[in-house]
Amino acid sequence: MAGRQSPVLREIADLIGRGCRLRCPCCGYGRLFKSAIRMHDRCSACGERFEREPGQWLGAVYVNLGLTLGLTVTGYFLLRTFTSLTTSQQLAIWTAIAALAPFAFYRLSKGLWTSFVFLGEGLYIQWPSR
Ligand SMILES: [Zn+2]
Repeated sequence: MAGRQSPVLREIADLIGRGCRLRCPCCGYGRLFKSAIRMHDRCSACGERFEREPGQWLGAVYVNLGLTLGLTVTGYFLLRTFTSLTTSQQLAIWTAIAALAPFAFYRLSKGLWTSFVFLGEGLYIQWPSR
């Protein structure tokens, strides 16, 4: 049984990796972004649509919040463990980082969300063949 599930898990990891690399979740070749913040409508390599419905990008906001929260909480505990910074110093550092991180994670969160949407839709359509 585990041998049968392994290719699916590998496919899911591959899809998420494509999102992290800001590539088309379907083929892995086309770029998601044409500029710093603007996305292509379709993949230049395979023609897959990146935005399937209006309001789709709301999910990317939650991905962005999760990434920001993960960074700040992990960073807080790492600094607390390995430095002697006071709580107010930590608060100043992590408040600034929490304010800036969503901008830094913008592309990554949209790339990951595109992969998640494709993964969800991909369960009902044929997986890309290689
Ligand atoms: Zn593609």
